Amino acid sequence: MTSPSLPPFRRLAILSALVDEQRGLIEHLQQRHKVEHAGRHFWLGTLGGTPVVLTVSRIGKVSAAITATLLIERFGADAIVFTGVAGGLGDGVKVGDVVVAQDFLQHDLDVSPLFPRYEVPAYGRSRFECHPTLSQALAEAVKAALAQGLSPDFGQAQLHRGLIASGDRFVCGAEESAHLQTRLRAAGHEALAVEMEGAAVAQVCADHGLPFAAMRTISDRADDTAHLDFAKFVQAVASRYAERIVWQLLGVPQPGLA
Ligand code: SAH
Repeated sequence: MTSPSLPPFRRLAILSALVDEQRGLIEHLQQRHKVEHAGRHFWLGTLGGTPVVLTVSRIGKVSAAITATLLIERFGADAIVFTGVAGGLGDGVKVGDVVVAQDFLQHDLDVSPLFPRYEVPAYGRSRFECHPTLSQALAEAVKAALAQGLSPDFGQAQLHRGLIASGDRFVCGAEESAHLQTRLRAAGHEALAVEMEGAAVAQVCADHGLPFAAMRTISDRADDTAHLDFAKFVQAVASRYAERIVWQLLGVPQPGLA
């Protein structure tokens, strides 16, 4: 039943960015039932004794914010763990590595000069923190999963922890990603990875005072070949990573694994 450092959950939401990441978990869900709501599929049940709700975020900040709100308001989630893939931005953040988010920022939000660039109006800040204990438990789960040598194809995968930038754009160009990094640095933000949903979910969780943690496996370097690397990677390994890490977090052996 979950890592000893965590309180018991009334219902832990496991939010996946990709359908592939969720498939294996649904297979092992006990007392499984599916609810369709707002065009989305929510899977309820228990995993290794922990009550859970599983769903796919959908791509982009608005879709992800709607999904997160529904998880909390309609399905009684009292914590959200988000898994997905991202483009590597930080130096040394390579394909196959995993980033556990410390906090999130919306890299495409700009209400300047009325507010400082990236600041979310009404919040007085641009960065939304993840829950320290839940993130620590997730990082431990990632470490344990990586120690099992998850993917020989990608060499020695590393765990990184830090800022992740989200925006409604698949960053797919060396020049674009360098430019993005430069703009963020100019405002004092050092982002490790870029994706399209995390900051939205972090903000929803902040509004509800709900613990939130997120991990992203690096699928590409947000450069000119990002779209090719992304597709290959997702099929090959990302889904297996996410599944392994979730079982580690739940503190039970992964079913069917030798
Ligand atoms: N072909 C996919 C679309 C993927 S969009 C499909 O059919 O579903 C990319 C997804 O991966 C988003 O959820 C985003 O969060 C993440 N991602 C991976 N690499 C990214 C990058 N370089 N820039 C932005 N998002 C990225």
